[in-house]
Amino acid sequence: MKTSLLDAAAEATAIAEAARLLRAGQVVAFPTETVYGLGADAFSPDAVAQVFLAKGRPSDNPLIVHLATPAEFERCAFLSPRAERLIEKLMPGPLTLVLPTRPEIPAIVRAGLPTVAVRMPDHPVANQLLRESGPLVAPSANTSGRPSPTTARHVLDDLSGRIAAVLDGGPCRLGIESTVIDLSGDVPVLLRAGAISPEAVAELLGERVVKSSAHAETPRSPGMKYRHYAPNIPIQLVVGQVPLLVADGTRRLLLTTASPGRSSKELRVEPLMESTFYQLLRQAEEEAIDEIIIHLTSVSAISAGLLDRVMKAAGENGQ
Ligand code: AMP
Ligand code: MG
Repeated sequence: MKTSLLDAAAEATAIAEAARLLRAGQVVAFPTETVYGLGADAFSPDAVAQVFLAKGRPSDNPLIVHLATPAEFERCAFLSPRAERLIEKLMPGPLTLVLPTRPEIPAIVRAGLPTVAVRMPDHPVANQLLRESGPLVAPSANTSGRPSPTTARHVLDDLSGRIAAVLDGGPCRLGIESTVIDLSGDVPVLLRAGAISPEAVAELLGERVVKSSAHAETPRSPGMKYRHYAPNIPIQLVVGQVPLLVADGTRRLLLTTASPGRSSKELRVEPLMESTFYQLLRQAEEEAIDEIIIHLTSVSAISAGLLDRVMKAAGENGQ
């Protein structure tokens, strides 16, 4: 299969063509404010099966359904007053809600769970596409185990020849995946950290948001048991003083929250931040870097969302 590149900025018909392919049951990657998603018709089990196949994603890891309007949440899930409040206040935005599912959502989307994950992206291209295509499942558009893609080129690097098209909408604004909050139980539970903090959600709900532990015996979210990024480059995490690096011929990438010093031939120094984190991991692989060092002046120097991705990449949290 040849993967076509549809440029939303340059071609007036790009979004319409992507929507046509999706309505025909094909798989198309598209931009969101978080990362690129791998889209397929959420109501077609055959189309959804293609997404698992293209990514090599384990079938017990459920997918997030992406919507064009706040009103569409009711089509997919049963809404509680908590859900209604968060939808009203925070959608569109980088927040996913896990809710009791409507029976119309195919079991393959939910990995057989009685709940469905739903969100409304805050991105004009995604929004227009979803209006024309209808609800789409959209996990990150990378091969399972690789860093999430934040540009159309990253998607092609992983999935060229395996999907019908990539809709190019430029680089993603945020660069890490959405916050996931489970509202299906007695208390709201944070399943994945992201740009929207649990404190902001707690404030809107007027109650505590419990932090689920990825180390729990039975993970609340199936995705938690999978390592996001299995690096083929060793990653060292350093907290505190800037590490002293001896010039010994090792090619290193230093990502730091301290003011980055100058790069040299052996050492590339870049600021550690959400919007470029995955991109720099991919570049390190391309440039055959020997070692990645992630330096935090303190653990509170970065957001909880970025800290979560750093820990996963460094293998501190992976299984
Ligand atoms: P990704 O699509 O790779 O951004 O990952 C989606 C995340 O949402 C994974 O961590 C999933 O396990 C989680 N998720 C999706 N649906 C559900 C659900 N019904 N219940 C709990 N977690 C879910
Ligand atoms: Mg992913």
